[in-house]
Amino acid sequence: MKLETLAVHTGHEIDPGTRAVSPPIVLSSTFEREPNYAHDGHIYSRSSNPNRDALEKALAMLEDGQMAAAFASGQAATMSVLHALNPGDHVIMPDELYFASRGLLDAHYARWGLQASYVDTADVSAVRAAIRPNTKLLWIETPSNPGLRVADIAALAELAHAHGAVCACDNTWATPLFQQPLALGADVVTHSTTKFIGGHSDVLGGCVVAKDAASEMAQRIRGYQQMGGAVPSPFDCWLLLRSIPSMPVRVRAQCASAKKIAGWLMGHPRVEVVRYPGLPTHAQHAIAQKQMSDFGAMLSFEVKGGAQAALAVAAKARVFIRATSLGGFESLIEHRASVEGPATRTPQGLLRCSIGLEHGDDLIEDLRQALE
Ligand SMILES: *Cc1c(COP(=O)(O)O)cnc(C)c1O
Repeated sequence: MKLETLAVHTGHEIDPGTRAVSPPIVLSSTFEREPNYAHDGHIYSRSSNPNRDALEKALAMLEDGQMAAAFASGQAATMSVLHALNPGDHVIMPDELYFASRGLLDAHYARWGLQASYVDTADVSAVRAAIRPNTKLLWIETPSNPGLRVADIAALAELAHAHGAVCACDNTWATPLFQQPLALGADVVTHSTTKFIGGHSDVLGGCVVAKDAASEMAQRIRGYQQMGGAVPSPFDCWLLLRSIPSMPVRVRAQCASAKKIAGWLMGHPRVEVVRYPGLPTHAQHAIAQKQMSDFGAMLSFEVKGGAQAALAVAAKARVFIRATSLGGFESLIEHRASVEGPATRTPQGLLRCSIGLEHGDDLIEDLRQALE
């Protein structure tokens, strides 16, 4: 069966107790045992809950993995992968890593004894040169935030495996609809399910999906989830599962508009650069074509004139909402450098857009009047 059909039905089985078509929310934190103390699955909601189980089944299906672990945020999911390592291990991270992931590594994991190198993962030979005898994890984020650089997942996974390291890929921006990192060789995939999987800007969540449920990495992640307890509530799980059936249709429509908008921005005299992997002018367009079935709904562009010019464009937006985050049905525009603060590595003229479900023509008209 195709992804669209599986997305509608996986984890959405009819509830045997009530025949409810939409699954009930099980708020109970604890579950009764038989007189002989046997149990049929659930014991205590930190370890497992019916709504979380259903969500994890759907998430594992989306990425074609053997196991999914749902977390209370994307960052908690990232932390579970880092916690699976040992103090003294070395990790290779993209030099354009999600801002808060870099913050976690520098402010917390360095103190905890994890060594990190930041490398341009679009350059396979630079990654090869960064490998050390104690390199245990190679992290990919493609397309990257906010520069939409593309890294070659298959080549990097092969490189990681040749040196006994695990390859993890943050697939938040591409979505499982357009990019399947496990099939390309990655061992684990992470998501901020807050974004395209949630799709409604009303729930925070994250997940890790593992290709091999029996791997040491997968086992440690499950253990960290169940014992550490950074888990989503039953209602959060229900909201996320509600969103999965519409994800393929939403993301495809959002991507179609993003493509049009990127093409339109290319011809605008006030725009210096447009960053979208679907453009033939994108530096890694060939790799994107090889590993993505389409190019997603995120794009960035640089306005001539730096921070002031970019902020003035964002200020004039009427349809685009000035807010952080991405992947929801409403289009968002963001001046990343302002959000990231003094430590930012993002160009001052850059505006990041998450393209929503409004009509593409209205979004283009909004950018046209904002750029005037
Ligand atoms: C948002 C995001 C995260 C962090 O997820 P939260 O749900 O905000 O914790 C991680 N990686 C990427 C690429 C993101 O866009």
